[in-house]
Amino acid sequence: MGVSGLLWTVRVLVLLQLVTGILGWGKEGHYVICKIAEGYLTAGALAAVKELLPESAQGDLANVCSWPDEIRFHYHWSSALHYVDTPDFRCNYEYCRDCHDSAGRKDRCVTGAIYNYTYQLSSAYPNSNSFSDYNLTEALMFLSHFIGDVHQPLHVGFLGDLGGNTIQVRWYRRKSNLHHVWDTMIIESALKTFYSSDLATMIQAIQNNITENWSNQEPLWEHCGRNQTVCPNPYASESVSLACKFAYRNATPGSTLEDDYFLSRLPVVEKRLAQAGIRLAATLNRIFASQIEIAQA
Ligand SMILES: [Zn+2]
Repeated sequence: MGVSGLLWTVRVLVLLQLVTGILGWGKEGHYVICKIAEGYLTAGALAAVKELLPESAQGDLANVCSWPDEIRFHYHWSSALHYVDTPDFRCNYEYCRDCHDSAGRKDRCVTGAIYNYTYQLSSAYPNSNSFSDYNLTEALMFLSHFIGDVHQPLHVGFLGDLGGNTIQVRWYRRKSNLHHVWDTMIIESALKTFYSSDLATMIQAIQNNITENWSNQEPLWEHCGRNQTVCPNPYASESVSLACKFAYRNATPGSTLEDDYFLSRLPVVEKRLAQAGIRLAATLNRIFASQIEIAQA
């Protein structure tokens, strides 16, 4: 391989790294969210979910919640659906203004995708025996993943820095970027520091918080507007607000993020994982509720 070939390879690798960073909570984050959601599904919704799961899930939704990240090169069209960019430094989100892909095609963003896959599942499920035009197994896996992603504050970040992807920082001694810190590094460091590197222990701690410290707030998290099956817009607004208050703050390019940043942001990350899990369960319960009513009738 000549020098130009080598340069090309390096460029592709850098680009791949950048693209990987855009795609959402890491594997652990999505697993935590879907595990929490499973605990709040009604019996009917759980049965409907299990029926739709692919064999690779082995009966557990959490096992396939990172699937949309794994197929992103095969399903090239789906990469814009993991996030929504907002205008720089405004700290607010508006569906009509912000939900489009880089070519300006409307509804191609994370909140648009959540509406789309909810619609696909809902349109099939009042009478689940009828033929559906959609691949409902994929719809379930996309919806579960994107409800997770919209809760990651930097998935509703600024266009100018690609949600923190172009902000190079150090996470303790390691080179990273701000987006990756929020997808993966905070959770990774929390696992090592507080949970003996055991994901199940971390999930248990978040579940305890939901039933103890956040029990007053939890019903509000579930709430969606009257007659609405899903409501991703307030989740996106919360995310960009948290991005401004916590993610971007004191994280300028070249800065080193250590204990101060880690310890003050970890509670934000854990609460977002909890909210995403509760809201995923509430959405699936609403989608599959009509099916249960029919079964009971
Ligand atoms: Zn993603």
